[in-house]
Amino acid sequence: MISVVAPIYNEVDTLAELHRRLSSTLQPLGPYEVVLVDDGSSDGSWNRLLELAASDNHLRLVRLSRNFGHQAALSAGLDAARGDAVVVIDGDLQDPPEVIPDLVAAWRDGYDVVYAVRNEREGETWARVASASVFYRLLQRITSTPIPRNAGDFRLLSRRAVDALAQMPERARFLRGMTSWIGFRQTGIAYDRDARYAGASKYSLPRQLGLALDAISSFSTTPIKAVTALGFALVVFCMAVLGWTLYVRFFTADSVQGWTSVIAVVLLLGGVQLLSLGVIGQYVARIFDETKQRPLYLVDEVVDGSAASNGEPQRRG
Ligand code: UDP
Ligand code: MG
Repeated sequence: MISVVAPIYNEVDTLAELHRRLSSTLQPLGPYEVVLVDDGSSDGSWNRLLELAASDNHLRLVRLSRNFGHQAALSAGLDAARGDAVVVIDGDLQDPPEVIPDLVAAWRDGYDVVYAVRNEREGETWARVASASVFYRLLQRITSTPIPRNAGDFRLLSRRAVDALAQMPERARFLRGMTSWIGFRQTGIAYDRDARYAGASKYSLPRQLGLALDAISSFSTTPIKAVTALGFALVVFCMAVLGWTLYVRFFTADSVQGWTSVIAVVLLLGGVQLLSLGVIGQYVARIFDETKQRPLYLVDEVVDGSAASNGEPQRRG
């Protein structure tokens, strides 16, 4: 069986079209289920989902108790999916469902992770494409896990890949990096990314930065190493300055001068120390988050779709 997982956060206008396109793509592929995770929507998405589930027993709905964020919603969907292969797709139709048969074909050829690589990104701002490009380049440089560039969360995972992800307990989830990390046989397939079907992106700039921070600090200790190197260089620099001041004090006459250089050194050191503390603090904060061992998400209810025309969808609290 093939499972398709999509996170849904305030996508009410997209749901019917998403359901239609997913169903028509998946039907020829054999048995399938569609797991839609409502990530605390407040626009009536849940009721629309219930309507869809009332007449389609391929649907499985998971409603989280509040908005936990995209990556947590994906984790909830992966945990609820029961297929032998699980396709993760955005709920806004930016990832065309018609690519799924290609992903499935690669899986049938023996690949465990088949990620879809974006050729073109339609309907996205120039700034968004540029910042994504800079980010993926930077990430590639400073991590030892190769994270494919231009691949979002649209991908297929085999059962053992899904189980491997479920074993990774970290709270700060950057699933793109985590699926690269697990290894097995991985491959990419190119596709053109569409514009959103309806609504606006839920990734504001702060949220994008948050994801970038999660990605960097979960997959790289380079910032901490850089801080250490910087500290070391500054110690050498300060020793030199100290030598110079001693020389001026004991071997020349103009020892009262130097206010500017003193202030400059104080400011420089103060700034670097604060920056370094900030970077180290980032990692400490993450250690704190991880040690709390909170669940990634809480499920409010799970509804399995039903094909019976009069039947209410089956609810499980
Ligand atoms: N999403 C979610 N929870 C959130 C934010 C987004 O489940 O807190 C879903 C959203 O409904 C969409 C997918 O994650 O299906 C990708 O979000 P979006 O399209 O806003 O991101 P972008 O494509 O702009 O990166
Ligand atoms: Mg989107």
